[in-house]
Amino acid sequence: MATESTQPAYKIVDHTYDVVVVGAGGSGLRATMGSAEAGLRTANISKVFPTRSHTVAAQGGIAASLGNNTPDHWQWHMYDTVKGSDWLGDQDAIEYLVREAPDAILELEHAGMPFSRNDNGTIYQRPFGGHMQNMGDGPPVQRTCAAADRTGHALLHTLYQQSLKYDADFFIEYFAIDLIMVNGECRGVIAICLDDGSIHRFRSKSVVLATGGYGRTYFTCTSAHTCTGDGGGMVLRAGLPLQDMEFVQFHPTGIYGAGVLITEGARGEGGYLTNSEGERFMERYAPSAKDLASRDVVSRSMALEIREGRGVGPDKDHIFLHLDHIDPAILAERLPGITESGKIFAGVDLTRQPLPVVPTVHYNMGGIPTNFHGEVVTIGADGNPETVVPGLFAVGEAACVSVHGANRLGSNSLTDLVVFGRATGHRLKELIKPGTAHEELPKDSADFALGRLDHFRNARGGSPTAAIRDRMQRAMSKHAAVFRTDEMMAEGVQVLADTYKQMEDIGVSDRSLIWNSDLIETMELDNLIAQASVTMTSAHNRKESRGAHAHEDYPERDDANWMKHTAVWFEGWGGKGGDIKIDYRPVHDFTLTDDAEYIKPKKRVY
Ligand SMILES: Cc1cc2nc3c(=O)[nH]c(=O)nc-3n(C[C@H](O)[C@H](O)[C@H](O)COP(=O)(O)OP(=O)(O)OC[C@H]3O[C@@H](n4cnc5c(N)ncnc54)[C@H](O)[C@@H]3O)c2cc1C
Repeated sequence: MATESTQPAYKIVDHTYDVVVVGAGGSGLRATMGSAEAGLRTANISKVFPTRSHTVAAQGGIAASLGNNTPDHWQWHMYDTVKGSDWLGDQDAIEYLVREAPDAILELEHAGMPFSRNDNGTIYQRPFGGHMQNMGDGPPVQRTCAAADRTGHALLHTLYQQSLKYDADFFIEYFAIDLIMVNGECRGVIAICLDDGSIHRFRSKSVVLATGGYGRTYFTCTSAHTCTGDGGGMVLRAGLPLQDMEFVQFHPTGIYGAGVLITEGARGEGGYLTNSEGERFMERYAPSAKDLASRDVVSRSMALEIREGRGVGPDKDHIFLHLDHIDPAILAERLPGITESGKIFAGVDLTRQPLPVVPTVHYNMGGIPTNFHGEVVTIGADGNPETVVPGLFAVGEAACVSVHGANRLGSNSLTDLVVFGRATGHRLKELIKPGTAHEELPKDSADFALGRLDHFRNARGGSPTAAIRDRMQRAMSKHAAVFRTDEMMAEGVQVLADTYKQMEDIGVSDRSLIWNSDLIETMELDNLIAQASVTMTSAHNRKESRGAHAHEDYPERDDANWMKHTAVWFEGWGGKGGDIKIDYRPVHDFTLTDDAEYIKPKKRVY
């Protein structure tokens, strides 16, 4: 039951729960279900209606070694994921992911998810980049379960319907501002109701951050405008580190200009890329996997073709994706969504014409460091890199478990959402006894969040939010691109520091509390710019090439010095600085059980 209290200036509505989940994408909904099912009083806070979360846009599918269309084994999936991660993934967590994946799919199937089917009634699985048979030796495996090319839509609606079955309270169109941290423990979260501007203090025994990625730090990306990394911003402000932020995935096939995604499933179904000479150039870069090499490899090959003058179009600045050789009936059945996107966003009938595409920012491998139970971890005062932050969890793209390491394989994110969403539910059940008393909150528990809100609401400087955001996004696109050099990144660090300084001069024109999108976008920018800053700095710091981080001055992977996770802190908030501190956490070079063997590093060729 909500009770009301009043603090100066802002009226606060108080709520008490066992668990508060922030975010209602695939990971947040799965964690909410698990928590509510365990009998814990659970609240879910989401800034958009649950089925509008970015998960709804996922196209190609969700990976699990069911072996419906080709032989498969979880150990093959594990091998591919470790190799895809360029040996930065934690092998215990990867073992957990791939072994739980088939159950996660069956659970979704039983919940009514409308998967595409084979003639014999089993779930249809398609090939995806970097997924192979026989411990990487090939041929490609069909491992990606799909609902045509609208898998995320089907998944999110299934999970939302399921979550309504349980007794969780949804706070929809509420924006979480900041965590309530007391002596290093998380005790709740402060949120604003977008509709009427009321402030809500959620006291809870645990908070789960399921806030998604921060793709909107870049000028062009495939992610929704809501992907502003709010959870990562809150974590940095709580004085905790983020991990491996330098690893930003470029998807090979964003529609040129619009940035809208064309799923890798398009190449899984037989699509291929060509340059201005009509050459299928991927055969040169990845003789065995060709167009189905992993994303970092394909994106780099495309960037090289363009750089060497073999791009297509008047400015020779993009590449063609061909689907025009595929039977239109197959396209209509398996790729109806992208057929439509091609028409709308590129004016192309892809049954007849090639589609103009270019590598586009798509996914954040880095995020809030957690163990495979979803518990947030940090480097403790005693130097222990596995120190759990009491009361704080993170799941989904917001988190860095780390199963994706330096490069995520396509269709492994949706698996990550449900597997670790569920694991978080299990852990909450173990740790929290329903109905037990809450710790008292200090009187000033809302002050930090309200101080920020009030600061931005009354900001009267000369720089509009949109102008600062634009400057940040252009800097990221230019200085932290597919290929990176020391010089470019050093410049990028400086531009972002200057842009961050400009936050002192920010101006918000709407001072009301009713649907104040100017204010909310400003708080989102505040979250974005912190993460842009640590991304650029972590990238500049890492003197090697690994996965998505292609450093031209250091073109080789350097396991001796750099097989370690970056942990990065951002200090000096409130427009006063922006100091960045970097430390390292070890990569887990052990497996979860004796069933799996540690996969030793070797050169990554496809
Ligand atoms: C176009 C596209 C296609 C993709 N296709 C695939 C695919 O086929 N297969 C695959 O495996 N992966 C795919 N991915 C990646 C995958 O879809 C995402 O990584 C994943 O859906 C993220 O889910 P999530 O639960 O972490 O967060 P999201 O789905 O992004 O949801 C975030 C949630 O947090 C809430 N939130 C955020 N900030 C706040 C705040 N301050 N206050 C309150 N609520 C907040 C939002 O309201 C939302 O509910 C795709 C991604 C994109 C962009």
